[in-house]
Amino acid sequence: MDFRSDTVTKPTPAMRHAMANALVGDDVYGDDPTVNELEQWAAQRHGFEAALFTTSGTQANLLGLMAHCERGDEYLCGQQAHNYRYEAGGAAVLGSIQPQPIENNPDGTLDFAKLKAVIKPDDCHFARTRLLSLENTINGKVLPLAYLAQAREFVDQHNLALHLDGARVYNAAVALDVDVCEIAQHFDSMTICLSKGLAAPIGSLLLGTNEFIAKARRLRKMLGGGMRQAGILAAAGKLALTEQVPQLKQDHINAKRLAEGLSQIHGFSVNADFIQTNIVFVKLADTIDVNALADKLAQDGITISAANPLRFVTHKDISASDIETLLEKLEQYMA
Ligand SMILES: *Cc1c(COP(=O)(O)O)cnc(C)c1O
Repeated sequence: MDFRSDTVTKPTPAMRHAMANALVGDDVYGDDPTVNELEQWAAQRHGFEAALFTTSGTQANLLGLMAHCERGDEYLCGQQAHNYRYEAGGAAVLGSIQPQPIENNPDGTLDFAKLKAVIKPDDCHFARTRLLSLENTINGKVLPLAYLAQAREFVDQHNLALHLDGARVYNAAVALDVDVCEIAQHFDSMTICLSKGLAAPIGSLLLGTNEFIAKARRLRKMLGGGMRQAGILAAAGKLALTEQVPQLKQDHINAKRLAEGLSQIHGFSVNADFIQTNIVFVKLADTIDVNALADKLAQDGITISAANPLRFVTHKDISASDIETLLEKLEQYMA
């Protein structure tokens, strides 16, 4: 049982079968029918003109930022944003794009008054503020639909584009019990990770207008992300979106149950009422040696990331009974 991330999910038997039988061609020539089909289908499915299949979510975000912004432009984002914190500074390093982060509110949203205050006037001293980048889900939290509508109004007022890092946007849609388009409709561009809870082995999507995706496609080649017979991966990616979405509901139920169980264990602090999707953060008492805890669990075949707060992520390769096993082991350990 691996609770470190939903990236550890293995491809399903249906994915393996589809990969083995995928029609393929050289995608750099535009010849891979399975990639083309995925891109066309995904664009339409999510309400965008075009889509691009990418090697990773990091690459999809980078291409999105670089397609929206030129050198010397900036994007607004949260301090906790993946595309600010966890992508090796790629937008700055490779795009010469300056991030302008502000603190996230506890619910993951960004305050519009604070955002407004950091938008730069048109003046040669400043970078040009071009884009607002949101993330949904962010640390397992779902941005409210009403907030997304406000964000659209905000960017329209300030002449900015709006990007969504939607690595786990399907978790958000499932948690809200809405079609993913209810979320996607507000954005000029959006990414989707196929290789997290949705279980594809590799790949993400970037969605946007035809012009935007054409620019991103050129940039993807520049970054070395042009792939050849990538239909083998796209075949699994399609199934991620057509067959794996219902699983996320179970993942969320499992996470909630895990949080409830953890909250009963001495030294573990978490409020299960705040668990919306598949990620559970638990604060450990200072007396708990998290490395020793991780070592002990490893002996029982359970993998966690040794950190405080401790993050547990549920996914299709963790069952409801695995949750009970983990809770028992933790109770034993604490006793
Ligand atoms: C995982 C993740 C990414 C990056 O995806 P990789 O495929 O790991 O590069 C981007 N944004 C968010 C919110 C993520 O969780």
